[in-house]
Amino acid sequence: MEQEERDRRREQGGRLASRLRGAGVVGVVLPWVDTSGVTRGKAVPVDRLPDAAAWGVGMSPVFDAFLFDDSIIAGRFAGSAVGDLRLHPDLDRLTVLAAQPGWAWAPADRYDLDGEPHVQDSRLLLRRTVDALASEGLAVRAAFEVEWVLGLADLPAGSEPGAFVPAFSGPAYGMARHVEVSDYARDLLTALADQGIAVEQFHPEYAAAQLEVSVAAEDPVAAADTTVLVRHTIKAVSARHHVRASFSPKVLAGSVGNGGHVHLSVWRDGANLMTGGDRACGLTSGGEAFVAGLLQHLPGLLAVGAPTVASYLRLVPSHWAGAFAVWGPENREAALRLVPGPRGHREAAANVEVKCIDAAANPYLLLTGLLAAGRAGVASRATLPAPVDVDPGTLSDEQRRAAGIRAVPSSLEEALRAFEADDVLRAAFGEEVAATIADVRRGEVAALAGRSPEEVTAALRWVH
Ligand code: GLU
Ligand code: MG
Repeated sequence: MEQEERDRRREQGGRLASRLRGAGVVGVVLPWVDTSGVTRGKAVPVDRLPDAAAWGVGMSPVFDAFLFDDSIIAGRFAGSAVGDLRLHPDLDRLTVLAAQPGWAWAPADRYDLDGEPHVQDSRLLLRRTVDALASEGLAVRAAFEVEWVLGLADLPAGSEPGAFVPAFSGPAYGMARHVEVSDYARDLLTALADQGIAVEQFHPEYAAAQLEVSVAAEDPVAAADTTVLVRHTIKAVSARHHVRASFSPKVLAGSVGNGGHVHLSVWRDGANLMTGGDRACGLTSGGEAFVAGLLQHLPGLLAVGAPTVASYLRLVPSHWAGAFAVWGPENREAALRLVPGPRGHREAAANVEVKCIDAAANPYLLLTGLLAAGRAGVASRATLPAPVDVDPGTLSDEQRRAAGIRAVPSSLEEALRAFEADDVLRAAFGEEVAATIADVRRGEVAALAGRSPEEVTAALRWVH
């Protein structure tokens, strides 16, 4: 980072700090997301913001090698206690936190002591990936759905520590649930709106005490920032209501999990390539190639998008998690659900929903992988097999074999093997990040080896 840029950031920080002081803000949280998908960070008093903007705030690079339980793996390119990085807040995304009076938030980019981007920084990596697509005339719009469950914060006497006790009852999508969570949901929607987040829908989801918020599509870096901020806000509103939010892929062994579905559309010259074409389901050839790239690289992508051992307890048929590596229009059991949108509104609405991924994923790494896979599909003019318009779980093994339908990887080890064999993904992440993803995943597999599904879900329940 050049001196001129540091001066620009200091000046911007000064202007924003006085505005924040006027709004009663005393501290600014600087979050970033680690390889395990855990949001970590530091905070600065508001007076320190100009200096932090120019010079960053110190933080050890060791966090790239952290696991879900705060143990540290000895990675090939991460895990050393030696060295330092600087967390630089992106002040263009500075947000006053509506549910944490006195606090603001600005996502951090990590630079090294020479002012160069830290090679393992996922947010800067995603920005470079977006720029590479732009240089080929392509733009992606993305949006994350957020599913979570609410548990009681004060557990009934005799409960296991960390147990999940649903904080409310009522049926999926049910009016009874809406009424029960009315004050909580009002406070959440108010906070999100005050923070400038364009919520599209809110509803009670399928699993016990499960809720969901979906937001409007944005540029990929903004979409990843938004999902980090949405989850931060859900945690804050939950704390104020004395309940506990879990985004874990599988809160209880045996029940429906929390997805972290991502909607993607790819655009060229201002036109949505997911619609108005002459390929299957109205895709243009570019849109088809992008989706085909996603499909081809899905097994390896799961090591990034379904990054925990618990993720594979979620990825089972008939749980709407997209456990089959197929695509199909409006097929909620397909890993890739094509969403054509209502006639008359398709240019704005058509997208592909990647369903087989969850909120334990680092959203910046995940979008880096998804964009790279789609981009590779476009570069090779990849084509799609026939769309699947049934729930593959209702077919016999023989019928699935005949139709060429395969399940997504059924374990983190299997996804990791696919990731390490995927040259496109490894190149997209670069040697250091790809190795760290693999090292961290292998560390998690080892840490949870031999544990029962109940023990795995308990270990990961409150981490993300
Ligand atoms: N909760 C489901 C999952 O694990 C998804 C439900 C839905 O289709 O929105 O992905
Ligand atoms: Mg849902």
